[in-house]
Amino acid sequence: MTWRDEIARRVRGEAWRDAPLAPRTSIRVGGPADLLVRPADAGDLVELLAACRRLGVPWLALGGGANLLVADRGVRGVVVRLPPDLGEEGGGEGRLVLPAGAPAARLLARAHAAGLTGAEFAAGIPGTLGGLAAMNAGTRAGEMKDVLTRAEVATADGLGWVEAAALGFGYRRSRLPELGICTRIEVALRPGDLEAAREAMRADLERRRATQPLSEPSFGSTFRNPPGDHAGRLVEAAGLKGHRIGGAMWSDLHANFVVNRGGATARDVLALVRLARARVRERFGILLEPEVRLAGAFAEDEGIW
Ligand SMILES: Cc1cc2nc3c(=O)[nH]c(=O)nc-3n(C[C@H](O)[C@H](O)[C@H](O)COP(=O)(O)OP(=O)(O)OC[C@H]3O[C@@H](n4cnc5c(N)ncnc54)[C@H](O)[C@@H]3O)c2cc1C
Repeated sequence: MTWRDEIARRVRGEAWRDAPLAPRTSIRVGGPADLLVRPADAGDLVELLAACRRLGVPWLALGGGANLLVADRGVRGVVVRLPPDLGEEGGGEGRLVLPAGAPAARLLARAHAAGLTGAEFAAGIPGTLGGLAAMNAGTRAGEMKDVLTRAEVATADGLGWVEAAALGFGYRRSRLPELGICTRIEVALRPGDLEAAREAMRADLERRRATQPLSEPSFGSTFRNPPGDHAGRLVEAAGLKGHRIGGAMWSDLHANFVVNRGGATARDVLALVRLARARVRERFGILLEPEVRLAGAFAEDEGIW
């Protein structure tokens, strides 16, 4: 029996072999997963992770794929995608507990229904709540670490809550998924002026629509902003706004966004990113650090960033 048979036989949830990942990422690039698994519940997920450990099979947590560049050759091992309702919702006294597989928009919907504010920064950030926690996603208005109090995490050894202080939050980073797969998050919010909160969200979404190429497939900001500057400004100043390699292009609307103009490969995207890094370093002496995460088996001649 192969490892795929063994795992597919053990999990109660659904499992797909050679599952295309490009449609599960926002930039629509990349090859298939050896095995894509959607566990039935948290117990099933722990069982899956234990089987991976026993069989020596690597796993990758996939959220909404809004911050991932998947290799053209795909991802070896198991890719885990949580269902949107894995784990119970809860709350009380300004706190909300939500499933990590739920879309980010659910946080705002539940918060506002409970009369709570403070998570408006998440409006317009695509992805799942687990992905937002893992990336410490946010904007100038706030980020996940401002509201997240603890995360429920599954490992091969079981399920448990990890306090925010142990999650290693930094600028667009955390210790997830290194610590395991986040199954639920708890956030603390405060009662506030809902009309003002909705107005702030509307203004933010309008600003995004005017400044970001939202109608084209992308993975959002490619690079982190260097201290005191903007990556988009630097890529533009390096003369690359609108520059195209294969099907990938530095957006002519926002030069920190790579867009897929049709048929882009991970190789195209990497070449574009490497070009920008080299040019910005050469012209301005700044080495831009990618915010986007790489997933899968990149060929040696593709290099990485
Ligand atoms: C148009 C557009 C606009 C964007 N705007 C913003 C913005 O304003 N601010 C911002 O911060 N980001 C922004 N992003 C990037 C993206 O939305 C965020 O990084 C988001 O947090 C990604 O969530 P996801 O569920 O899609 O994660 P994925 O891309 O699927 O995964 C990202 C990382 O999180 C890990 N992960 C995912 N789920 C889990 C889990 N349950 N447990 C453990 N680890 C997990 C993955 O393994 C991976 O390492 C934007 C993207 C797009 C396409």
